Amino acid sequence: MIDCSQDGTFEVHCQSFSSNPVQYFTLSSFDRVDPPTSFRAIRLLPTPAGSIPLYEKKVKGKGGRGLFTIRPMSKGDLIIIEKPYLVLPLTEDGEEPDNKVYHKLYLNLSLEHKRIFDGLYERKDDLADKDHIVNKIDTNAIPLAQTSQDGSVVMKKMGLFEVISRVNHGCKPNAGWYWYGEEKEMRLYAYTDIPAHAEITCSYLSYEQLLEPSSIRRSILLDGFGFECICKGCNPSSIDILKSDNRLIELESLRNEWSNKNIVEYCKIDDDVIKTLRKLNRSLKLLEREEKFNQLGEVYEKIFEVYAVHGSSDSSRLAANEALNHFKAIMGEKEATKTWVARQSVDPTLYPLWNKLGMIHSDSVTEHQDESEENEDDDEDKEKDMGEGGIGKVHRSRVSAHSRFCGYRVK
Ligand SMILES: [Zn+2]
Repeated sequence: MIDCSQDGTFEVHCQSFSSNPVQYFTLSSFDRVDPPTSFRAIRLLPTPAGSIPLYEKKVKGKGGRGLFTIRPMSKGDLIIIEKPYLVLPLTEDGEEPDNKVYHKLYLNLSLEHKRIFDGLYERKDDLADKDHIVNKIDTNAIPLAQTSQDGSVVMKKMGLFEVISRVNHGCKPNAGWYWYGEEKEMRLYAYTDIPAHAEITCSYLSYEQLLEPSSIRRSILLDGFGFECICKGCNPSSIDILKSDNRLIELESLRNEWSNKNIVEYCKIDDDVIKTLRKLNRSLKLLEREEKFNQLGEVYEKIFEVYAVHGSSDSSRLAANEALNHFKAIMGEKEATKTWVARQSVDPTLYPLWNKLGMIHSDSVTEHQDESEENEDDDEDKEKDMGEGGIGKVHRSRVSAHSRFCGYRVK
């Protein structure tokens, strides 16, 4: 509930789902703009100072609920840190164990956590598991994925979270979670600036699936998770969907050129560094246009590699720092400094293929950007799409647990 006071502040009495004491947030008058009139606030689990209060309310259009932010956020903001209240093991092959394992774990939960578990959403279509405990786990658990040394993603466990498991899917996610294995906690980061009272959405799709055209994404979500996605990436007017799909098809074509090739082979496709950089910059533009923010890092890495393989120290260092700053925003400083590009941001000559193709004439990062203004037929509708304010899908359905990748890149 909200109590408004005479002096321009109001308190959100955040109802606890657990046995911890109820917390109170005192908000400034700035936060009074369009306060929600009817919602069930949720108490944040222990978070660092300065984290952002969230509340839960119904999403327009359907009966589902979503998580909303009370305050505006900036790209890279740490929204919440949360430990799982239930950790679920997977087999060596990454499959779910026998149902008895899940039943035993459930029986060992505290009464409070049982109450939270019992309140979880269940998938209800024909593909839903008849076992209610397994169904709730399948539709709400999140893989506790860790990135290994070679960049691949390893998943040996899943987790259920009191707050983060309530985040809805969006094909243009404005946030994403990252598992901090040593700390045994999930961290939710803002992928972009988010206005106050916008819904927080994360992708339940894998890295590659998120880049598919809308019809394929919707089909995957329907089959895998039992809901029809009506997020802002899937539910604009049909002409907007067509433009969006065309951008993703163009992006796929550009990505195919560098996928499964080392950087020397990739650079030799055009044998023209400016042309190569122009294509990469076009890829950045398409990703930003489609709001696939977490995928930008892959392209920043490629831009670094193109400069590095040509021995361009200033530009490669700048590109590596751009990549590093991006990773800091989507996974936090600690994990970002473990990425391979972090080392190159200090000394790009450490790159194994440094100067392999010889120096280029221009050492300017901006050159490829200046010459990339082709195919700009979609600028006029950009403003329209960006004005939708982040309100995403409405279903409470969750993806099958194994598929909730949150856009992790699996090499
Ligand atoms: Zn969607």
